[in-house]
Amino acid sequence: MTNFDYDLFVIGAGSGGVRAARIAATHGARVGIAEEFRYGGTCVIRGCVPKKLFVYASKFTEEFANADGYGWSLNGTPTFDFDKLIENKDKEITRLEGIYRRNLDKSGVELHDSRAVIEGPNTVRLLSTDQVITAERILVAVGATPNVDAGLVGCEHTITSNEAFHLSEFPKRTIVVGGGYIAVEFAGIFNGMGSETTLVYRGEEILRGFDMDLRTGLHEQMEEKGITVKTKSTIASIEKHEGGLTVTTHAGEVIEADQVLYAIGRRPNTAGLGLEEAGVELDKAGAVVVTPQSQSSVPSIFAVGDVTNRANLTPVAIREGHAFADSTYGGKEWHVDHSMIPTAVFSQPEIGTVGLTQEEAEARFDNIDIYTSSFRPMKNTLSGKPGKMFLKMLVDADTDKILGIHIMGPDSGELIQIIGVTLTMGATKADYDRTIAVHPTAAEELVTMREPTERIRKN
Ligand SMILES: Cc1cc2nc3c(=O)[nH]c(=O)nc-3n(C[C@H](O)[C@H](O)[C@H](O)COP(=O)(O)OP(=O)(O)OC[C@H]3O[C@@H](n4cnc5c(N)ncnc54)[C@H](O)[C@@H]3O)c2cc1C
Repeated sequence: MTNFDYDLFVIGAGSGGVRAARIAATHGARVGIAEEFRYGGTCVIRGCVPKKLFVYASKFTEEFANADGYGWSLNGTPTFDFDKLIENKDKEITRLEGIYRRNLDKSGVELHDSRAVIEGPNTVRLLSTDQVITAERILVAVGATPNVDAGLVGCEHTITSNEAFHLSEFPKRTIVVGGGYIAVEFAGIFNGMGSETTLVYRGEEILRGFDMDLRTGLHEQMEEKGITVKTKSTIASIEKHEGGLTVTTHAGEVIEADQVLYAIGRRPNTAGLGLEEAGVELDKAGAVVVTPQSQSSVPSIFAVGDVTNRANLTPVAIREGHAFADSTYGGKEWHVDHSMIPTAVFSQPEIGTVGLTQEEAEARFDNIDIYTSSFRPMKNTLSGKPGKMFLKMLVDADTDKILGIHIMGPDSGELIQIIGVTLTMGATKADYDRTIAVHPTAAEELVTMREPTERIRKN
């Protein structure tokens, strides 16, 4: 028993903070947590969960269009009630938030509805009550926040992903600015729901950091679905008038829109948190610099999740929180391996990816065999719907070990989870070859790709 109010005080009840608090309490620690907005954090309240619900909503348009080829007629034009979607989504989010609060409570964690700031290595102030709390350790799990282009003329007329989930009116014309996964997902959402959608991105190609075949492939298929994709393009000004927004690019192009959604990256939520004053080292992006054990430069202060800017995904934040709590309070020391992270992009079509991209593999390995397959998914045959499934496997030709798998098409997110298990286990191409196919599926291609489409040999 220490003289502190708590053994652990967690700031931020999102993916990482909630997991760490619950596990630490289960191991017997006295834990308090503060949340300034809503329990569940970005993922539950204004990230993964509402986003995926919106993706589901946006996919019905295609399903309705394709039903005819399978003999169905809908007898009339289906109509979309955006307000109803928002209302139902809000109910679901409120239900989930309740579960998060109850689970923390059941684990014995004390909940504080307040913004918290750090006042020293063991001291936190709750701004709602001005209460000062002491803790043997503090865990910073405050996540990140969307960037805006503050210097842009008309910046006040833009929204970010935060507001996109609460629009009072469905935009007939939407511009999404950005080329990362959140930008391409929202472009698919608005397009699918029936908004005339333009994606404006300053880079050469969307989805920087992903395998190039996926980047160019998604770009093409987004255009096929009716999204206008403008790369190497930036916005110079936004002007509001009675009929909407006039958006002018630096190249002088004028686009009319009802909403302009900026998805140009996220920054760690460290401003005004008292970290630097307490001696915690931050990097240039404002992220907390941590050891693999998530310890900051101040030994009693730890940080997990997006605020550390390691891999900004919910399952990673959860793992980091869990590892911290087990290692510190459970006598089970472990840390997260960030080298093999399967991930999905809920673009339309969907993307699943794990391991090295071709560009990364070529930089690290001498001899690589590349297997690719591209075909029309069976569901698209009777409907006559465009769109292709794409699968790519990168193999180290010297050891037969699979270095990366990248897929695009229906259910890629579901597939990549299981593919990720095999790569984490160190699967070889021979392991895939001796696995019996499941027929008829798209995934069977992964175990039937015989001849490489390309062989890269440096010697
Ligand atoms: C639109 C969108 C879609 C996404 N989709 C996916 C996806 O499909 N898959 C995926 O894996 N990831 C996705 N993410 C990323 C994912 O949401 C984050 O990686 C994850 O939420 C990070 O968890 P965290 O615990 O670090 O922070 P968060 O979940 O952001 O939680 C931080 C919490 O701290 C609170 N807080 C901040 N400062 C203070 C303070 N001073 N005092 C008290 N409370 C404070 C915040 O209100 C917040 O609730 C998405 C993100 C966005 C924005």
